[in-house]
Amino acid sequence: MHEILKGGAAVYVLLVLLAVMVVAWLVSRLRYRRYRRTAEEKEQQKRESSKRRYVTAKMKERVLERDNATCRICGISKGYLDSLADGLGDYLLLEIDHITPVSQGGTGGDEDNLQVLCWRCNRKKGGTRTNEEVAGMIDYGIDRVRVKKRRGLFR
Ligand SMILES: [Zn+2]
Repeated sequence: MHEILKGGAAVYVLLVLLAVMVVAWLVSRLRYRRYRRTAEEKEQQKRESSKRRYVTAKMKERVLERDNATCRICGISKGYLDSLADGLGDYLLLEIDHITPVSQGGTGGDEDNLQVLCWRCNRKKGGTRTNEEVAGMIDYGIDRVRVKKRRGLFR
């Protein structure tokens, strides 16, 4: 009698263990599937956004020409710097910026959504500010340079 009870308990324990293992296996499968699905979705989104973000060298050239190689916020240009001192314009880094950031629904491959900015204005604009907001923030001392130049102080 005692032996049978012991055997019954062992079977019971084994059954419970088996059930737990089956449940754990099912849960892990479900979690793996969900993980796979979200990973695939993320990959897809990344591919699409990089496609939308893509700006060709030809487009950059056209935008630079259209904007006269002048920052659309602060108005600085290579030509202006060269007029101050020979070769100074080479130090100006002009960038092509998305007016409405791609992260906020702007189209990357659309030239109407591209503009020329100097690197300082572009850093200030980031992914959240508008041209007008940046224009209200900046003081690069360009006007002070103009005054100095007029007075013959700038060399
Ligand atoms: Zn600028």
